[in-house]
Amino acid sequence: MKRESESFRSYANEFLGPSSPSQVLPNAHAMINQNCIALRRHQTDEQGTTIPSPSFEDLAFVGEREPISSSSAIRTTSPYVIRTTHGVLPAAKSIVSDMHIPVGFVICPFGASSDIVNVSEVVRCFHCAGYMNPYVNFKEQGRSWECPMCLRINEFTHSYLGNQTEKPFHGKLEMSHCSYEVAAPAEYIIRPPQKRTYVFVVENTADSCDANVPKHVIGAIQSLMREPERQDVAFALVTYGRFVQVYDLKLGISQQLSGLVDEIIPITIDEDSASIGIDLPSPISHYFHAFHETNQNCTRSLEHVALLRSSESSASFGAALLVALRLLENTGGKAVMFCNTSTLSSDRFLRDAGGNSADDPEGTFISHVTNFCSKKNIGIDLVLHLKSNVAQPKNFYQLALNSGGEMSNFTAENASMDIPKIVRLLMGSTCALECVLRVRVSDGVSVSDAFGSSFAVNPDLHVISSCQRHAAYAFLLKYDVEALKSPYCVIQVALLYTTCHRERRILVHTLQLPVSGQIDRIYNSLDGIALSNIWARMAARGALITLAKPMLRALDSFGSLVNHFNQKCTSGSLAHREKLIVPASLKNIPALLCAVCNSEAFVNGPDTSQLSALQAVNLVRLLSLDLSSYVAMIYPMVFDISGSILPLASESLERQDDRLAIISFGNMLYVVEPQTSSSERAAAVDRILEKLVNSRLFMPLCNLQKTVLSASSPITELIPQKYWFLEHSKNTINYYSLVDYLSSRIDKLRCKTPKTER
Ligand SMILES: [Zn+2]
Repeated sequence: MKRESESFRSYANEFLGPSSPSQVLPNAHAMINQNCIALRRHQTDEQGTTIPSPSFEDLAFVGEREPISSSSAIRTTSPYVIRTTHGVLPAAKSIVSDMHIPVGFVICPFGASSDIVNVSEVVRCFHCAGYMNPYVNFKEQGRSWECPMCLRINEFTHSYLGNQTEKPFHGKLEMSHCSYEVAAPAEYIIRPPQKRTYVFVVENTADSCDANVPKHVIGAIQSLMREPERQDVAFALVTYGRFVQVYDLKLGISQQLSGLVDEIIPITIDEDSASIGIDLPSPISHYFHAFHETNQNCTRSLEHVALLRSSESSASFGAALLVALRLLENTGGKAVMFCNTSTLSSDRFLRDAGGNSADDPEGTFISHVTNFCSKKNIGIDLVLHLKSNVAQPKNFYQLALNSGGEMSNFTAENASMDIPKIVRLLMGSTCALECVLRVRVSDGVSVSDAFGSSFAVNPDLHVISSCQRHAAYAFLLKYDVEALKSPYCVIQVALLYTTCHRERRILVHTLQLPVSGQIDRIYNSLDGIALSNIWARMAARGALITLAKPMLRALDSFGSLVNHFNQKCTSGSLAHREKLIVPASLKNIPALLCAVCNSEAFVNGPDTSQLSALQAVNLVRLLSLDLSSYVAMIYPMVFDISGSILPLASESLERQDDRLAIISFGNMLYVVEPQTSSSERAAAVDRILEKLVNSRLFMPLCNLQKTVLSASSPITELIPQKYWFLEHSKNTINYYSLVDYLSSRIDKLRCKTPKTER
């Protein structure tokens, strides 16, 4: 904890400057006009107004945006599915570069299943393969249509038009609904959908067995086996301590693979036939068991694994991973690695992979493994048992990051609660299994980069190996032309996925954005939560690879935006020049940026070539959460019993701690219970919980805890100090030091390009 706060202080001092108050500007908080707002530089001012804090509606609701479609007959995509940084796209490339912020969108494709209609036929553009959507233009009295993405003309087929001269396109929901689904015709199914295949790899060293990790993993698998909608799953088991054990589930026997620890296993990555040179005693099919089969031998093996106790303290993670890859070599699938962070550093393969060893100076183990995975369609999920928060070399986490795998963590104390939740999450949603996601955008704009846990074939084409309801992907857009000609830009995301009934379906989400050259209109349309999420994802990926000060680019980017806005959109009078004026649409950005900077994910360790497991898990999580879960993860919220968010000021919260109801931050949710029970209060808590659930402000792995606030455990101790960033706290990057940094950044920019006085 001490090291954490010290590193924050140095981060804050180095990049944000000391947070000493300078002179107070009267009315600095006042609205300049309805479309912009001045940032507060000080905690208190002459009016004694409360400190800035987003309201519940700001954080939970998409807010009023410019109507995306002029026609009310069109059912647009749900804001829980797609949110864009810009509600109105800049018409010219030069406006995009002047504004200094990314243009992009965040999509949670399975985020709103109730809003999706079923259609009966797949109609696609002959030229760009885009799907039929409400924004096509009809030509030749409805005999042909212009694709809004490539602007080329397609003929309707006679069979599609049918005999509908009186009510053309009646019942064609794909022409009125922006989110629809359709069963994939036979030509989309090159091979029948495969069974989903998992290899669970569980460490069984003394530490892991003390925490009952094997027992909880087996328990979680057994409970999922009983669910009828998971019939298509096949799994294998590998355990490892110093040696690696595989289980012939057909015969119910375990087999120890010897020699793995001390001998080098060749991984031959051949362009044509990639394979791993490990000889297994039984045929591969014997190691797999399908969920719907009954087999006494398998049950016996599972019981055997659950009871395993080993006295070893060293573990061969790398060798066990290679065995899992060998098992998945022919089918593809997921290797789910349950490993203890304290044993990883002694693993021979990983030690060599760090690049410190003479055997493997290039760190080729990790890159060989991830190359192999991409060829064989294998994802590696890391489930890290946080025994000690030892840092690992950054490239260790590339195992999950580069193979489209997930990362999660648990501690020995919470193993019984967390492992079943994690296994369930990793097995993916039951509504959709693996899928291929493709983004198409109107001509002139294209996808330049993507963030999320998927395997990227191209920036606009991704393979997702286990779909999750909360998983969201972010895409950055770039302009390929100097100016967009069309007044609208269409973004379409299409997913070809397999259901748990092994049916192939196509899910299409289409969004149309107006294009404008009016700068104030563009500024008014910005979405602070989508923008801060994309900044956080860019920083998270930077932190996972190289960057030492990952959020700095976002802060500078925002500074440049504020500078541009102040030059273009405010009157330029002297009174305004001393204030930091931001578009009203971005009024919560400083608080959100503070929250991201102070979030667990960006805690700086002393060595930037290494990352602690906890931090790595948080960074990977930031890369893949939907917007609601992202807000819940970064933004601490304190609710009073009336259900409104209280500002994060310790003094005022302490004053009214008898009114506090729920405290939510990161993956913790505290329900504050009164000293004496009160049914009225319990009802209020239920109402707020419901509100949180409805607006999805819950983390998927949230822990609920009931607590009684008393003088001995005041609220300021419940919430770690770094979350108090809305007051002048010494150890964090706080709101005011961030605003000071912005202002110094803007001063620098103004010096570079001196403006003549009016
Ligand atoms: Zn087209």
